[in-house]
Amino acid sequence: MPLVYLALGSNLGDRAAHLEAARAALARRLTLRQASRIYETPPWGYADQPAFLNQVLAAETGLGPQALLTYLKYLEAELGRKPSFRYGPRAIDLDILFYGSLVLETPLLTLPHPRLHERAFVLVPLAEIAPTLRHPLLGMTVAEMAARVDAAGITVWEG
Ligand code: ADP
Ligand code: MG
Repeated sequence: MPLVYLALGSNLGDRAAHLEAARAALARRLTLRQASRIYETPPWGYADQPAFLNQVLAAETGLGPQALLTYLKYLEAELGRKPSFRYGPRAIDLDILFYGSLVLETPLLTLPHPRLHERAFVLVPLAEIAPTLRHPLLGMTVAEMAARVDAAGITVWEG
């Protein structure tokens, strides 16, 4: 089974509880193999909103990539994500970073995630659990990509 890497983010309400509920719900359909620490990160894209908590998980799943995305969207709704504007505040955001080394581009799903290489809030936690993982299109490792982004303001969240 391919190893999939997922990014979790929350910046509304009880952020840590949203991440915990997401991990518990994900475990119904995936076998979680690794979890990064939780990081507090400044908002990205649209600055006038609360700070995020972010975490990255590695997991195995029998779900194919499209079915996995459908399941993540279902969980976002179940866990209380209200429709918001792009990059705006959300109770829970669940993204697929990598699905093994699969490269895919459809209207609904792009793999690897098209913006992961420019997002410190993804690369810092990802580098903690998978520094040598190589981006199949860019050829860089996660550690190399993480060294190229501005990680200012990203801190380990101590609860
Ligand atoms: P973002 O996660 O970039 O902050 P959204 O959560 O609003 O933005 O996602 C917008 C859309 O991106 C989703 O509805 C989904 O169909 C699409 N998408 C494309 N590739 C991916 C991926 N690898 N993981 C998650 N969503 C993706
Ligand atoms: Mg998303």
